[in-house]
Amino acid sequence: MHREMSEERIEKQLKKIVRFVVGAGILLVIGGFLFAVILSRMTNHALTEQMHAETEEYSRRLYDQIASDYQIMDTFASIIGNSGITEREDFPELLDQANYENDFITMAYMDTSGNLVAAVMEQETTQNHISEIQEEAREVLLEAVQGKRQISRVFRGELSDEEVVVYGTPVYQEDEVVGALAGSSRIDIFREILESDMVLSSYGYVDLIDMEGNYLARSGKDGISGDQTNVFIAPYFDAEMSEKAKEDLRESGCAEFSFRYNGKKYMGLIETVGIHDWCLFSVINTRMGSREIYMVDRAASLAGGAVLLLMLGLLSYGCRLVWKNGRRLQQIAYHDPLTGAYNMIRFRQLVDQRAKKDKRYSIAALNVHQFKFINEIYGREQGDRVLRFIKKQIEKSREDGELFCRETADIFYLYTPMTDRDELGRRLKKLMDDISRIAAGERGDYQLLMCCGAAVVEEDEESLTLDQTLTHVMLALTRAKDIHQNNIWFFDKELHRREIMENYVEAHMNQALKDREFCLYLQPKVSLDSRKVAGAEALVRWIKPDGGMIYPDQFIPLFESNGFCVQLDMYMVDSVCRQLRAWMDEGIRPIPISVNQSKRAFYEKDYLERLTEITEKYQIPASLITLEILEGYTFENVDEVNRKIEELQKQGFRVSLDDFGSEYSSLNTLGQIRINELKLDRWFLKDVAEGKKNVRVIMEQIIQLAHKLHISTVVEGVETLEDHEMIKDLRCDYGQGYYYRRPISAGDFFDSYLKNERILM
Ligand code: C2E
Ligand code: MG
Ligand code: MG
Repeated sequence: MHREMSEERIEKQLKKIVRFVVGAGILLVIGGFLFAVILSRMTNHALTEQMHAETEEYSRRLYDQIASDYQIMDTFASIIGNSGITEREDFPELLDQANYENDFITMAYMDTSGNLVAAVMEQETTQNHISEIQEEAREVLLEAVQGKRQISRVFRGELSDEEVVVYGTPVYQEDEVVGALAGSSRIDIFREILESDMVLSSYGYVDLIDMEGNYLARSGKDGISGDQTNVFIAPYFDAEMSEKAKEDLRESGCAEFSFRYNGKKYMGLIETVGIHDWCLFSVINTRMGSREIYMVDRAASLAGGAVLLLMLGLLSYGCRLVWKNGRRLQQIAYHDPLTGAYNMIRFRQLVDQRAKKDKRYSIAALNVHQFKFINEIYGREQGDRVLRFIKKQIEKSREDGELFCRETADIFYLYTPMTDRDELGRRLKKLMDDISRIAAGERGDYQLLMCCGAAVVEEDEESLTLDQTLTHVMLALTRAKDIHQNNIWFFDKELHRREIMENYVEAHMNQALKDREFCLYLQPKVSLDSRKVAGAEALVRWIKPDGGMIYPDQFIPLFESNGFCVQLDMYMVDSVCRQLRAWMDEGIRPIPISVNQSKRAFYEKDYLERLTEITEKYQIPASLITLEILEGYTFENVDEVNRKIEELQKQGFRVSLDDFGSEYSSLNTLGQIRINELKLDRWFLKDVAEGKKNVRVIMEQIIQLAHKLHISTVVEGVETLEDHEMIKDLRCDYGQGYYYRRPISAGDFFDSYLKNERILM
């Protein structure tokens, strides 16, 4: 279960969490952004609405003020018109009195002739003509005498020396205009309205301006220092903005705008009031003006930020948890709980990766000699301590690119990029010696001995699986275990191949014989005079059920040592006789065939009987069978060999001495032994070809001596035309070798050489 937890899985889990949190974070940010945009729009809309409403309210207040001023004026006008007090001499005093009792600065009465009586607060009453007064006041009075109520522009009154507006209203006497009344009022009465706290929730200000932006009444709340007289020259209005505002104002009587000033955002509105070119100019701080929305916005941003932080926190916590959990699982899954070293699962994974990179590397297995006794005698705990100690020592000695693990019990594997056997041998020997030495120092009552098996993997052994390499390492370790001292055994490929073959051969030989897997192959023996096939040598081939062929070199030596060659040789004699019989039955002229005979078979007590039994079984003349024996047999007891040879020859068999010259043969041997044929080993030709001196002379001597002894001669291993020419020159009788033909199956041999050799019967 958890043991299979891999790094990839942990990585996948982490990625999942990160993806989820990042996704959620992005959604949150997008959501937050949309929310902010909507809030901002809502804010702007609400603020604009609010400004319109407040400007309207403000206009209304201005109108109320004007209306109330007019009411006072109208009341006076009515009193003046209907009472006829204008005719009275004390009319100037009466007017002064009236002026004193209301808020006007100046009150003036003008008759239809333009004569004017003006009462100015705290000044003497003056009497002059309309033509003598300020234009703004004159216009109002002239309109009023025409029966029209009129309010003047804002101007600086000469009499009061203040910014004023003048109200003008007609004075009627029985429906007839008899004069006009004017009253000037300080512009401050409007400023007081502008300064009222109710305006724009106290987070903005309203000024009274004209269409060109000139201040008529300034609330003084704008916080803009300096004494500029025009809103459009204020620092927050750039030329483009003011042009646009003026244009909007001209076209629709209303201009909306927004700007940033001192880091704060403002919205503004200019709207005409309906009196002259008066406009209300209102500005509001968006943040303060829409405090609730701003608070919601802030709260939402804070909440979003908090959620984002929380998510990031969760993400890091989750990742840490998964990572820690993964580490814990990895620790369990990939480590040996006793020593903390990697276990075999992890070792295999890592070796797979490293080996691909290194290409050439070695694996060694370290083992404690007689570890089970340590466990039994000193107790399991001590055994565990020893294992932990070994792990520590391996770890200490570890070099770059090396890996190690504990497999089971007392087996530690070490992977190393070192491939030089001597170098690796020294390195491992030192490790083992160190372990023994330190252990002896720590605990002197037993000696800790190690053994080590190692296998070197070369670059051309890519096909080798890790399992195979580990098997090789274990095979080497098995060998190393036999020697009771710190020692290293390297796996030997060739040796191992042979071992495998031997195992196979031994395990399968009996069944193979029964299943007729040993097949008869024939190699022609060629007469050097006529170049005709004068005979053949029977050579066994083991053909496995899967079609694979095993050559005699791979099993004959083993059969010689385990005695199976006796059965095989008889089987081959049987096969040869059976084949000769088959051909003879088909009317083919038979050729003599040589059969190799092992020492064991040759010395069998009933050897001759068994051979005779076979030749009789197939009704084959023994003269067709040549028995090839090896010179090695003859040394021990030449007389006995000769006796045996004679018996065989008496029965009709021919005897040939095979591989002559390959071992300790001497011309002396040749003189003693009663053979019919001598086969010179193929090494003679090899030596001649390599230019070894005297070899040709030796061959010549051997052949001459053989002829003198009436022994026919065969040279083996004829591979080239030169070989053929040379042995012919040496007057040898027969040649055998790849130059003529390789060993071929009996069927092929028949097709090649015998098919046309039928005897006419
Ligand atoms: P051998 O009896 O000396 O057989 C000759 C070996 O030389 C054969 O190897 C043959 O294939 C090889 N040979 C022939 N011509 C050439 C050549 O031109 N160049 C080279 N390099 N080699 C050549 P093979 O068949 O592998 O047999 C090896 C040995 O195994 C034989 O040597 C023989 O001693 C033994 N053997 C073969 N069959 C039997 C058998 O049925 N019984 C016994 N006891 N031994 C056998
Ligand atoms: Mg032979
Ligand atoms: Mg031979």
